[in-house]
Amino acid sequence: MKVLSVNAGSSSLKFKLYEMPEGKDLISGNFERIGIDNSFYTIKINGEKTKKELSIPNHKVAFTILVEELINNNIVNSLEEIKGIGHRIVQGGDYFNKTVIIDEQVVAKIEEFSSLAPLHNPAAITGLRAAQEVIPNAIQTAVFDTAFHQTMKVEQFLYGLPYEWYTKYKARRYGAHGTSHKYVSERINEILGRQDTKTIICHIGNGASISAVENGKCINTSMGLTPNAGLIMGTRCGDIDATIIPYIMDKTGLSIAEVTNIMNKESGLLGISGISSDSRDIEDGIKDGNERCVLAQKMYVRRIIDYIAKYYFEMNGVDAIVFTAGIGENSPLTRAQVIEGLEVMGIKLNGEANNSRSREVKITSEDSKIPCYVIPTDEEIMIAKDTFELI
Ligand code: AMP
Repeated sequence: MKVLSVNAGSSSLKFKLYEMPEGKDLISGNFERIGIDNSFYTIKINGEKTKKELSIPNHKVAFTILVEELINNNIVNSLEEIKGIGHRIVQGGDYFNKTVIIDEQVVAKIEEFSSLAPLHNPAAITGLRAAQEVIPNAIQTAVFDTAFHQTMKVEQFLYGLPYEWYTKYKARRYGAHGTSHKYVSERINEILGRQDTKTIICHIGNGASISAVENGKCINTSMGLTPNAGLIMGTRCGDIDATIIPYIMDKTGLSIAEVTNIMNKESGLLGISGISSDSRDIEDGIKDGNERCVLAQKMYVRRIIDYIAKYYFEMNGVDAIVFTAGIGENSPLTRAQVIEGLEVMGIKLNGEANNSRSREVKITSEDSKIPCYVIPTDEEIMIAKDTFELI
């Protein structure tokens, strides 16, 4: 059965088509700059990538092109072969705790939660409406980034604010990256060979979050009402004293929208280093003796250690710590520095094993009290699996 995994942004559409249940990747690609000038798309079949530039005015046109590519490349003979389409939805609020088949009621709920993810949920609706029009016979599912974190207890997801802000306005911790945390936590349990585990999953990429997972269920996570909480990220500040916001507004005359934008797009590694949000540039800066890059890296690593320590105590121990996503999978330096900071827990790095990128590997020595692993994440296959299982 062929299942399409889709991630629609306001001007982009990422996709991957799988043969399920084998999970064989048949074709993947990305439509970019949809609805703006210089739009293009890339597709990858059997490892071969091609790029085509043409006008892509909206998501419906993108899906139409996608279908043409599938037929022209003999990946499907007819649209009927695509039985399911799984859509990544950023915010499912406190309503969705698992993947669901999309109907009008589900769309209305996703719309309702748009105020919690104003950039993401409306774009996902645009994507799923376009898919419904172009591939009407497929069963469409909504896979929520927040669903995996719905097992958190109230004392973990509530803020120390008036309780009515939660009951009236739904102001609480929701978390994000749930599909990745779920995939990686399931994989580490396979590696450990049991389900009754306590694991800490560090999804550290441009966006970054850490989850504490007990017996396969999330008990706490570092992102909050929005993804701008917890760790220092590429351009997001993560945890701050909220009172900084009115203080800076008062000092600078910046509006709430401007301050929010700076906290999301001009902070984190970029804000501290003053040069880049990309950890490769930060690492180059460190080699060149750039003190602000040294500082940015120090702060970035410190915050990760702090969260691991917090969850270690919260779960009363941990069986494994896992690194994933862009930096977690590709930066031996960041992993080594984090593990160095965990020495007090009896964790010992295996330098040689750590010196690898983008592959599943144990990076601690045999005498390390707690093993640490790198597990490349795969949100797309998780979306396809959930969709396949629902069908
Ligand atoms: P993601 O958001 O998961 O795609 O992660 C993107 C981030 O991963 C980039 O911004 C880089 O900072 C980081 N990254 C990717 N490759 C490397 C690498 N080879 N070394 C260090 N960091 C990397």
